[in-house]
Amino acid sequence: MSNDQPGRPQGLLLTVSAPSGAGKTTICREFLRLFPDVRFSVSCTTRPPRPGEVDGKDYVFLTKEAFRERIDRGEFVEWVENYGELYGTSKKTMDAFLEQGTDLLLDIEPRGARAIREHYPRGVFVFILPPSLAELKARLSRRGESPVAMERRLRTSQDEIGEALWYDYVIFNETLKVAVDQFRSIYVAERCRRDRLEKRISAFLDRAG
Ligand code: 5GP
Repeated sequence: MSNDQPGRPQGLLLTVSAPSGAGKTTICREFLRLFPDVRFSVSCTTRPPRPGEVDGKDYVFLTKEAFRERIDRGEFVEWVENYGELYGTSKKTMDAFLEQGTDLLLDIEPRGARAIREHYPRGVFVFILPPSLAELKARLSRRGESPVAMERRLRTSQDEIGEALWYDYVIFNETLKVAVDQFRSIYVAERCRRDRLEKRISAFLDRAG
């Protein structure tokens, strides 16, 4: 869609959550490859970068002090403490993209997603689940984490899975291909919702008349 289109709608906010091990990161990566115009919303975090992660692309990596300063300045639309580290979403950045009509993909855990829903009720909320709890365990153990870390992740995952019930869409990630296709379909269908296109339809009718 070009920028000068009359009645261009606000960007669509696609929020995705999943317990760790469900395959969310891979699905999001594939999705962004298919839709290069969709922007990944880069969160701030105090956790150290993992190998291969790039500052400003995967996250904005901050010290705890710098993060707290941003909290005090009211920069975050939501922030949480997760595994002892802080994660937050910048309101200004999000609004700038949405207002210029850019669609945003937001990868956050359910507490943050709930806060986002309060502020952006027109957002679309997708939850990704592994095919089963046994499969989740198997995936987590393949990551080679310590038994203590794995146990902690598994407990958090189980709590998070209960949150799936309030999301708009749920994807069971049995195979990557099908899961990506489902995610893609949700996005494409949501882009075509009449209520998102009202301004464009009016502009179209004005010009037709
Ligand atoms: P990780 O450290 O594995 O990248 O992310 C841990 C968790 O934090 C994931 O569930 C991820 O979705 C979540 N997360 C990432 N960014 C944000 C954010 O800005 N806000 C919230 N609430 N959660 C986030």
